Amino acid sequence: MDDSQLLRYSRHILLDEIGIEGQQKLLAAHALVIGAGGLGSPAALYLASAGVGHITLVDDDTVDLTNLQRQIAHTTARVGQPKADSARVTLQQINPGIVVSALTERADDARLAELVAAADVVLDCTDNFATRHAVNRACVALGKPLVSGAVIRFDGQISVFDPRAAGNPCYSCLFPQDQKFEDVACSTMGVFAPLVGVVGAMQAAEALKLLMGVGRSLAGRLLMLDGLNMEWTSIGVGRNDACPVCAPK
Ligand SMILES: [Zn+2]
Repeated sequence: MDDSQLLRYSRHILLDEIGIEGQQKLLAAHALVIGAGGLGSPAALYLASAGVGHITLVDDDTVDLTNLQRQIAHTTARVGQPKADSARVTLQQINPGIVVSALTERADDARLAELVAAADVVLDCTDNFATRHAVNRACVALGKPLVSGAVIRFDGQISVFDPRAAGNPCYSCLFPQDQKFEDVACSTMGVFAPLVGVVGAMQAAEALKLLMGVGRSLAGRLLMLDGLNMEWTSIGVGRNDACPVCAPK
């Protein structure tokens, strides 16, 4: 790190659990953020400000006026632009010292495998079950930790699925692929703006911890937020031995 980096990251370096060593791990790390919307905005902003050396943003959508109520990486002037590009501009304004790759595409299974293989940690910031399951399958197959968040209306949830330790559940253990969960879109159900900030920032926190190997992650626990009464519930979640995605064959 040069003098300017030592200054930029000094409040991290001051933390015993992080120090120069932890900050260098972040600078050497590659995070894959899938979705540059309500969750992806705050998650990617904190990964960038905290100095994750390479961030890849994937989103096939463009910025819409209805996004700006909560998707804080975007601006009114960038309505109509691809979300990945728009978020990239914001991230690089905060931290020009990192690499941000913006991909405007909807990644299929083969493409996801390629992207996940190149990442050290994956953040699922999407809003549909098909993509969530595809991301989970890639993370299990490639042994990459997945930080999963979701918010709708006044409710949020977050967990970590880390296939590197035996016994940890994957996303499909909790939400089986063959169950018909209905996608509930913000466009029809509404979403309380700050809750995506709360959950997205927590996703960044978990990702940074995983990259540095500090603290205890949310693997094996699902946190649920009732934003209307501002109450958190933590439930322990174990692996489903019959899970078609992660159970030993
Ligand atoms: Zn599983």
